[in-house]
Amino acid sequence: MINPEMLKLGTERCYIRELAEYGAQQAKIVGREHVYDFSIGNPSVPAPQAVKEAFLHLIDEVDALAVHSYTAAPGMVEARAAVAEDLNRRYGTDLRAENFFFTYGASAALTAVIRALAVPGAELLAMAPYFPEYRPFAENNGMKFVVVPAEETFQIPLQALEERITPHTQAVLVNSPNNPSGVVYSRSSLESLAGLLEKKSREIGHPIYIIADEPYRELVYDGTEVPFIPTIYPNTVVCYSYSKSLSLPGERIGYFCVPDQAQDSRELWDAAAGAARAMGHICAPSLQQRVVALCAGCRPDLESYDRSRMALYTALTAYGYECIKPTGAFYMFVKAPEGDGRAFSDRAKAKNLLVAPGEDFGCPAYFRVSTCVDTDMIRRSLPVFRALMDEA
Ligand code: PLP
Repeated sequence: MINPEMLKLGTERCYIRELAEYGAQQAKIVGREHVYDFSIGNPSVPAPQAVKEAFLHLIDEVDALAVHSYTAAPGMVEARAAVAEDLNRRYGTDLRAENFFFTYGASAALTAVIRALAVPGAELLAMAPYFPEYRPFAENNGMKFVVVPAEETFQIPLQALEERITPHTQAVLVNSPNNPSGVVYSRSSLESLAGLLEKKSREIGHPIYIIADEPYRELVYDGTEVPFIPTIYPNTVVCYSYSKSLSLPGERIGYFCVPDQAQDSRELWDAAAGAARAMGHICAPSLQQRVVALCAGCRPDLESYDRSRMALYTALTAYGYECIKPTGAFYMFVKAPEGDGRAFSDRAKAKNLLVAPGEDFGCPAYFRVSTCVDTDMIRRSLPVFRALMDEA
């Protein structure tokens, strides 16, 4: 017999991936230059030169057996210490190697932390718009997934969040810079969130953790501040990924970090390590850990992301589209002119312009445009965006 829930999860199609596959097929039929694919968030900037050099150095100049060997389950101490040092320098924290656990990207970090907190009846709050995989991560790791509806500016919907906190609330997912809105939560809104969670934790008699999902931490524009949430709310667990910041999505490297200041810090770290083990974690890729040890201070080149962001934002708003100006990540979340993101996405698809409908992000009236794309494709796509608005 086969587990029906896993069968469902394994056979249901991810619409965004389907769109990207459709784009690749269409390109063969109508030509690449006539397909405008804004569907997925693959970095369009190559990994920094220092990262490439680190890979080459490790492959060419370090003992091959050592480079590819298993590491300790939480990862190499040198790599964990390098990340701790980098964060301490930037945020004045006192993190140590022991606070970190390397994983196969942010996804594996999130599922481990979620599972570690999944006591019977546990609830996980996520504020719309949210990364669609949060739902399967929660629901298949023992948590009820509770959606907090978005507010107009896509900042933290504090009152709606408060209304959804129950004695079963174990954690709130916070993703800033945000996929799909590109919004960065301001320090003051994070402070208000911290105040609310402190009050509610006291009321319900156990901590409500923030799970800070931060793959886009370094992808910000216009000098926007991305506060490091553990410095605002001690009961924060950070999940991080090098998929976007170092353009290594296929290399599967990230971590979770449980700072000492978090309540039951050691037990939570141990439980998340146990959850990772239960899901088959042996160690994160050893070569990539070594690259992180050498490149913990590397930052992405933001120039081309910024150019694409501004080109799309300026053009689309000039055509009449409504959109909060993104100041982080590499997405724009746009209100569909007909008020239905799926209908817009379908109309766009018929013109070979691919955008992700907002329903999977918890906002059906919107669609997401990935701005991590080639500027030439943006230029060619603009008449299509204009026609889609004119026809609405
Ligand atoms: N969280 C958010 C908000 C994301 O956008 C993504 C990937 O797009 C992930 C997590 C997963 O990242 P990873 O590739 O590190 O698993």
